[in-house]
Amino acid sequence: MGLMRILLLSCKKAAAMIDRRGVAGLNGVQRVQLWVHLSICQGCKSFEHQSDAIDRILEHERDVDPGPRTAHLEERIIDALK
Ligand SMILES: [Zn+2]
Repeated sequence: MGLMRILLLSCKKAAAMIDRRGVAGLNGVQRVQLWVHLSICQGCKSFEHQSDAIDRILEHERDVDPGPRTAHLEERIIDALK
């Protein structure tokens, strides 16, 4: 029972792990928890695919246009911080 409680995640925690995975990474236990959850939950598997697709689109946008559209925003943020 204890092991199952460790392995079983809520969908909310699984979605947070999917988001965090690309930013800060997951430790070994978290990777196993997420793998188990994704093997039994079609909803989170779909969320994972959508999240990966969004990441790829954003990476592509960044590579195609390295920032002229955001340059004025960066200046405004820097000015606001002064
Ligand atoms: Zn789920």
